[in-house]
Parts: sequence; structure tokens; C-alpha cells
Amino acid sequence: MTCSRQRLAAGLCLLLALPFFLLACGGGSLVPAATPAPASTEAARPTAVSGDTGASPTSRPPASPTQPPPSPTPARGLQFDPPQVSQGGVAVVYLYEDAASATATFGGRQYPMLRDGNRWWAIIGVGALANTGLAPVSVAYTPAGGGEPRSVVQSITITDREFPVEHVELSPETASLLAPDIVQAELAKRAAIFSGYTLQRMWTGPFQAPSSGMLTDHYGVGRSYNNGPVTDYHRGTDFAGEIGAPVYAAATGRVVFTGELKVRGNTVIIDHGAGVFTAYHHLSAIDVQEGELVTAGRQIGAIGSTGLVTGPHLHWE
Ligand SMILES: [Zn+2]
Repeated sequence: MTCSRQRLAAGLCLLLALPFFLLACGGGSLVPAATPAPASTEAARPTAVSGDTGASPTSRPPASPTQPPPSPTPARGLQFDPPQVSQGGVAVVYLYEDAASATATFGGRQYPMLRDGNRWWAIIGVGALANTGLAPVSVAYTPAGGGEPRSVVQSITITDREFPVEHVELSPETASLLAPDIVQAELAKRAAIFSGYTLQRMWTGPFQAPSSGMLTDHYGVGRSYNNGPVTDYHRGTDFAGEIGAPVYAAATGRVVFTGELKVRGNTVIIDHGAGVFTAYHHLSAIDVQEGELVTAGRQIGAIGSTGLVTGPHLHWE
């Protein structure tokens, strides 16, 4: 992370770090960095290897009496799109196996996979503060014809990405909202919401901007409060706007939360399926109900200044 001093802009939100991946939009992009590709093609498939186990001769460990017998796990491997992922980015994991079900595990979090023709896919997210280098992605799956569950492990390379740092001055009253008990309660509430997983992709095409307002703060910007160390980073994208300006659903999905959060203010969270959620914060009005199915572009609320903010804006995760 680089450290460049920035002036505190009006309408900044002071959101705390979350151990979750949401839709991470950096660099001004409003489109997810990776979306599942359409139907698979032969060209995109991994090179076929011979043998019942599918193991490549070059990847087979040398025989040794002290080692356990070779694993029956096929080594056809996983594919990542993109092949490398930067800090704060997302990647699609593909498994090419005839499976009845499959679940990817990355960074301690499980991602149930969805079938697309002859392959399975899931979107994984990398935090802006994630360690760079190789990180293991494992996929456990049940063969379609039955039999013992199998697993494949392959590492993805996480590359470094430079993020600026904002120095934020907080008044004692404002800082009190960042007290650990308040923050932890909000984290727990969100954790419960994001623990839901819909095994269906509900969106089509790129996500839309949730507001016509100007982008004022990007994902991944480091945060130093009252000249303290950088312990946090901005987990969303901020849009400027007047109180009452419309906020739209970025993509089709189901509303899984509406309500007030102490730090994030009035909030709408939409589940788009496949582990992808979008969250809309600091709203002045909420126009949808929990359980409601919303289509892309539908107005779901209005820009406000509820929660911990320095002025009206939309914080979108
Ligand atoms: Zn924000």
C-alpha cells in the first residue's frame, strides 16, 4: 500500500473492515472484474491427460516406501479466470469433472459451485490486504456416478496492488461509533446475512451503476483515523448525491435485508446468487421489502446520510 495524504472529502463514509468479500469494484470500474463466461468451449478446456486417474506423469510424486500410496484424486486440476488475481480482485474458479456437486474453499471460506455444462464454477474474492503470492484453492466434489468424495487443490497467484491512503479526522462523538462492541454487533449481523448462499446465478450481463452520481471514493483505499496506523480500508465505492436521489439495484436478485445499521445507516442488501451480494448504505429511504425479487435498474431506495458519514452519499459494496 502506498501512503499519500488526501483531504477528507465531503460525503465520505467511515466504514470498517469486514472479513467478507462482496462485489469489489476498484479503479472506477462498475463491472465485476470477472464474470462467469458463457458456455464452455473445447479451446478453453484443460489439456486432456491419459490414464485412469488423469494424473500427469510430470506431476506424479516419486515412488517412496515411506510415502502413502498415490491419491486416487484426478489431477485434471482447476482453471482460474483470470489466471492471477490482484489484491481486492475476484476470479472465477472452474472445475472440469463429471460431478454431482462441488464446493470450493479459499481463504477459509466455502463457495458452493454451480454447474455450467461440463464444468463447475464459483467466484472467489481476495481482500485488499490479502497476502501476495501463492494461495491454495481446493475443490471437494462428489463424482456424478457415485463413489467417494474427491478433492483437487491448486494455488492461485495473488499479485500486489497499490492503494492510496486517506487520513481521516474523527470527532470523539463520531469515533465512539467505532467502539468495538458496536462494530462487532454490526459485523455479526452482516455475517448472518452473508452466510446465506443461493445456488443459482440470478443476474445476466455486467452490473449497472446503482446511482447516476459521481464516484467520489474507491474500493481498497487505506484508512488512517486521527493519524493512527492504517488498520482498515474502504470496502466499497462511494457515489455523490443529494438526499433523496434514486438508488437502483445493480443487478437482478432477491432483497435479503432492509433495515438500520449503526455504522452503515439505512441499508438494503441484495443476494444475486452464487455468493454475490450487493449492499446499499446510508440511505434516506428504502423502497423494497425483504424477500422481494428486484430486477436490474429497479429503484430500491434513495441517497441519504444515515449512519457514520460526513455527508450524504451512497456507499455501495
Ligand atoms: Zn464508502
